[in-house]
Amino acid sequence: MEKILFKHNGTPNLETLATYRSLGGYEGLKATLALKPEEVVDVVKRSGLRGRGGAGFPTGTKWGFLPKDVYPRYLCVNADEGEPGTFKDRQLMEENPHLLLEGIAIAAHAIAAETVYIYIRGEYEKSIERVERAIAEAQAAGVLPERLKLSIYRGAGAYICGEETSLLNSIEGERPEPRLKPPFPAVAGLYGKPTVINNVETLCCLPDIITKGPEWFAAIGTPKNAGTKIYSVSGAVRKPGNYELALGTPLREIIFNHAGGLHDGRKVKAVIPGGASAAMLGPDQLDIAMDFDTLAAAGSMLGSAGVIVIDDATCIVRSVLSLSHFYQHESCGKCTPCREGTYWLLEIMDRLEHGKGRMEDLDLLGRVSKKMAGRCFCPLGESAFVPIMSSLKFCRDEYEFHIREKRCMV
Ligand code: SF4
Repeated sequence: MEKILFKHNGTPNLETLATYRSLGGYEGLKATLALKPEEVVDVVKRSGLRGRGGAGFPTGTKWGFLPKDVYPRYLCVNADEGEPGTFKDRQLMEENPHLLLEGIAIAAHAIAAETVYIYIRGEYEKSIERVERAIAEAQAAGVLPERLKLSIYRGAGAYICGEETSLLNSIEGERPEPRLKPPFPAVAGLYGKPTVINNVETLCCLPDIITKGPEWFAAIGTPKNAGTKIYSVSGAVRKPGNYELALGTPLREIIFNHAGGLHDGRKVKAVIPGGASAAMLGPDQLDIAMDFDTLAAAGSMLGSAGVIVIDDATCIVRSVLSLSHFYQHESCGKCTPCREGTYWLLEIMDRLEHGKGRMEDLDLLGRVSKKMAGRCFCPLGESAFVPIMSSLKFCRDEYEFHIREKRCMV
């Protein structure tokens, strides 16, 4: 399969402008600037590109929501990448920052934005340094349109800033809490102006969509899930890493053909297919196609495509406890069901793990989750109970063992 994002991986000095251009870099931008913005939007719509940040919303449609004749407009790049198990944007920014810059310039032209904020996770020092250097190089060489103003904004380590409206508040210097929608950012986003927020991987798809055509892109993957996807594979596999494959690649192929399979004698206990917020899949679901629609139909989600493999030597209660701790710590505290719910889920998981659990705690976890579902202000609260409830479906016996024997089953 032809690669799009990692096609030049391994090329020495790929992060430099000279190397990127020698490989045909910035040709997509050149072609874009000869088109009218609405023509670029149309090309991207026809490609079928869906946002790679998690929601899978069609990118061209999102751009089309901007109200006519309202300026200035902003483009914000979501490079906060906080979803546990996800590390693909980091590799893109570190190894090929000009690919991102070219994608940014194409998107900015399509939505007629002249100011771009690149919001990068603060811990990603190397990404920040590489993108900064790439901007300086590209500007000095006159590769980017002169009117385009690019600023890097460093995040301060809060997961909630990956939520698009919290990200906008953070850039504005406000407390990074999600905003009530509507209005959506396309209508009233950064500083109340029309704003598009796109993920790094989404933007990196754009140069090839322009140079090779929307039909070429749409032919990769499945009819409603076009293109490639970077799957970040971690956990109990021999070769953890980022793998760019066609959308819809079966989970079994990702784990066993690309990530090297499990260590000798180990079996899959569960797999988180799309970052910590995605419901776990059981070992009998390994043949599932890894795309937005198939996973949603199976009650999980592709999300950021952070695939976390849990084997039979791993205690499921301890694994889920660590996720509960994460959600409780990252809850921004704005709404009561999430603030209180994540606290109580952590309390219960903690006592289960440490031999103080009671059988009725398993139902209590379900009751707390029900009080949160559909009542939280943003996806964090709606996700916090997902690892617990999905693992209970496959591994209830292990939870019960923990309660009875006051120790791990493995
Ligand atoms: Fe904050 Fe959680 Fe409410 Fe989201 S759901 S606004 S993270 S308290």
